[in-house]
Amino acid sequence: MTHEHAAPEGPTVSQLGEGQLLDAFLPVATTEGPHVLVGPGDDCAVVAAPGGSVVLTTDTLTLGQDFLTMWPSGRRTTGADLGRKCAAQNLADVAGTGAVPTAVVVSLTLPGNTPVQWVTDFAEGLSRAFEELGATECALVGGDLGRGEELSVTATVTGRCVTAPVLRSGAPAGGVLVHAGVLGHAAAGLEALQCPVPGAWDAVPAQLRDALESAQLRPRPPVTTGPALARAGALAMMDVSDGLLRDAGRIARASGLHIDLEPRALEPHVNSLAPAGEAVGGDPWQWVLTGGEDHGLLAVLPVDSRLPPGVRAIGSCAPAAPGTVVPGSGANPGESSRRDPVGPAVTIGGRTSQQWFGRDVVEGWDHFEP
Ligand SMILES: [Mg+2]
Repeated sequence: MTHEHAAPEGPTVSQLGEGQLLDAFLPVATTEGPHVLVGPGDDCAVVAAPGGSVVLTTDTLTLGQDFLTMWPSGRRTTGADLGRKCAAQNLADVAGTGAVPTAVVVSLTLPGNTPVQWVTDFAEGLSRAFEELGATECALVGGDLGRGEELSVTATVTGRCVTAPVLRSGAPAGGVLVHAGVLGHAAAGLEALQCPVPGAWDAVPAQLRDALESAQLRPRPPVTTGPALARAGALAMMDVSDGLLRDAGRIARASGLHIDLEPRALEPHVNSLAPAGEAVGGDPWQWVLTGGEDHGLLAVLPVDSRLPPGVRAIGSCAPAAPGTVVPGSGANPGESSRRDPVGPAVTIGGRTSQQWFGRDVVEGWDHFEP
């Protein structure tokens, strides 16, 4: 294997007290930033709230459910990978509201045999992600280290708005659906990680396989594009965490309209995955339309808006057909039931996902679906 990452050795967390573990953790983390009034060390951190409001989000990654430390492909999720992924999915939520990330608190639940090196790698990966993703105002200001049977990390991130917060519900009929980031790479990467060696993914060029696995292990959302889209006049926005069809459906339902995706605009994404699809007999369209965890940004802008760099139009919004969507009737606030049988909130070139694929497909990722 060219990309095998060794497991860290050395002392484990149960050989260190919590104080010593913190002493190892904090020096490798970015704990200072323009909004930190009181950093780690007290009962609470104190963070400035420029503009008078705070954007707030949280996400958990649990071993077995959200990642494996050793994948069937032979690749590991390193501490640094998990730090990057933890940062990425939270920063993307802040960006998806059109805000700039300001501070993070992290809670780690660790089995006693977790190497200390893994924990410091996590802190470093988290802080590196702030830099790499352009979240330069963001700092780690506190958190909690605890012992538990299953490895689990939770981050909570605050952000500052640069405009009014951009929600899912503001899209108008006639608006242009735009996207920034990659589509389907993390889903293809998950398949690669789950494929043992030797296996079907051996036929994929090593460089491409490595890039796709990396897209799953440490996604790179376009964090700075969120505020840029807000300034460009975005009326609705979110990050694509559960797949394009499902998340576009969330905007459509929250805004009470219909979204049609433009297949030709999605072709560059499909083409970038075609060599992998051909090699393993997979359908790149399925990765692009239903794959989650890329954490790109999906927004609706007024027609004729100037698109920020890296943003491409991928569809359009139209009035919902009567009875098609019922805002507010679903499990999540502002979301109607996607099992509503009266009509699709999202189509692809005018076709439903069933018509597009010629079969029923699961339109995206859901933690609670069997
Ligand atoms: Mg999100």
